[in-house]
Amino acid sequence: MTMSSFQSQQIDAPTRRQFLKTLSRGAGGAALAASAAPLVGRAAPPDPHAETIGIALVGLGNYATGQLAPALQETTKCELTGIVTGTPSKAETWKQKYEIPDENVYNYETFDRIADNDEIDVIYVVLPNSMHAEYTIRAAEAGKHVICEKPMATSVQECKDMIDACETAGVKLSIGYRLHFEPHHQRVMTLGQKEVFGPVSVMQNGFGFRISDSATDEPHIEWRLDKEMAGGGALMDVGIYAIQGARYVTGEEPVAVTAQEYKTRPEVFSEVDETLFFQLEFPSGTVVDGSTTYNGNYNRLYATARDGWFEISPSYGYGGQKGRTHEGPMDIETVNQQARQMDAFADCIRQDRPSRVGGEEGLRDLQVIEAIYDSVAADGARVPVG
Ligand code: NAD
Repeated sequence: MTMSSFQSQQIDAPTRRQFLKTLSRGAGGAALAASAAPLVGRAAPPDPHAETIGIALVGLGNYATGQLAPALQETTKCELTGIVTGTPSKAETWKQKYEIPDENVYNYETFDRIADNDEIDVIYVVLPNSMHAEYTIRAAEAGKHVICEKPMATSVQECKDMIDACETAGVKLSIGYRLHFEPHHQRVMTLGQKEVFGPVSVMQNGFGFRISDSATDEPHIEWRLDKEMAGGGALMDVGIYAIQGARYVTGEEPVAVTAQEYKTRPEVFSEVDETLFFQLEFPSGTVVDGSTTYNGNYNRLYATARDGWFEISPSYGYGGQKGRTHEGPMDIETVNQQARQMDAFADCIRQDRPSRVGGEEGLRDLQVIEAIYDSVAADGARVPVG
């Protein structure tokens, strides 16, 4: 799967519902806010009667443009109320397309002034990986709830700092793990964790796409090849889905890993990993054969259990999941994953409960990722996790 086919949805013109949502945050929303209960902590709990949670996207690149903004036209509990961009021409396009008022448009210098903007409840960080920690912490210090894209950060220490900052500020943190809200993935979580076909013994999880030689200077690829910006290569970017799948099918945390790295184009991948194979050992005995690459398109989650098997293939894209078990196809509709993910976070904020994909979830993946890189550095030696 190429990055472009990974991004299947197009931006539509503003819908009538978006217009209504915008309206609800205007005069009517302000009137309702006036009767809100006293505020607790630094993040103002939104008015439980207001219709929507306001989200500002930070970084208007491929994912924000192709997926998140369109998904925000499908949400029922949140809406796009602000943007942060360093590119004035993008600001103009987005302002018109999504009816974003001037006062809700920020750049990286004015970012911290979002603290004074009641129209923005959540800051959604969609920047290159190395910028996640800084902007999550600054968002928390501005008193805003945060959604941060995966990988949560480029190190375990950064993840801990982000969790601490959000706790200190009294704001909620969620990681952009959209597949936790996708029904095929929810089904395999149940099949694995409830041992519907007996305990899972072996899994094969892999996700990769090919970066062609001609794509290396495209802006969204360029930073992915830069260790300082990306933190790592295919593993950080898409291998993380294979780790996630292993963790949510088993419902356990891996205790140890082994890993091997292969490079066929060292001139392209001089700083980051191109292809990695890794093996995860889980406490109850499940073993996971994981892989990731920037050198080919594949996309599969497979689990064999004592009394049967199940799989999703293709598995990790924005749609098009196909699930099967040894009994036959899974008859499940696909959904707008990102819309569900953001609406679920709106519920967490309104009901004052933690996100099911909170900072700890991102931190645990980074612990596994660091153990995998340590194993590669130690020529495939077995490395305990965490
Ligand atoms: P992108 O390169 O298309 O977008 C990055 C944005 O950050 C751009 O608008 C760019 O202008 C901005 N930016 C600000 N400062 C920058 C700097 N110093 N260098 C480079 N860009 C800078 O990348 P993307 O594909 O949209 O990915 C952004 C984040 O979203 C990444 O963390 C990625 O892992 C994540 N992502 C998640 C999913 C998912 O399915 N959850 C899918 C794609 C990307």
